[in-house]
Amino acid sequence: MAYKIEDMKHPPHCLFCGRVLISGRPDRKFCSVACKNRWHNRVKHPSREQVERRVMRVLSRNHLILDKLLRLGIYNVDRLTLLELGYHPDYVTSYRKSGVHHQYTCFDIRYELTPTRIKNIVRTGLEDDADKMEDEENV
Ligand SMILES: [Zn+2]
Repeated sequence: MAYKIEDMKHPPHCLFCGRVLISGRPDRKFCSVACKNRWHNRVKHPSREQVERRVMRVLSRNHLILDKLLRLGIYNVDRLTLLELGYHPDYVTSYRKSGVHHQYTCFDIRYELTPTRIKNIVRTGLEDDADKMEDEENV
């Protein structure tokens, strides 16, 4: 498709690389799919929603793994096995140091983490924390 003369005075440019768009639809914005993808990645990546979805996906997976271990009656597991199951130890919902113990929670499941193992995996109640959060929100 040819552009009109008026269009040639201000020819459209690729939004990403700036290359003049001399062919294609008049409302075309990118010279290639690659430029379109790069532009979207640069402009939108990572949006808060994308980050939130990604973090929630990892947390959900972590919780599924811990939940499965508990259902199997497994309360201690070496870290390598956990990583092989797809667990991401950097994603937790809370952390507390209790004496020499490093306690982490993933939603309602708490555990202690050592350099080589996670141990004392236990399901906790959420009521106390939920009440506390509601109180804090009402301040
Ligand atoms: Zn381009």
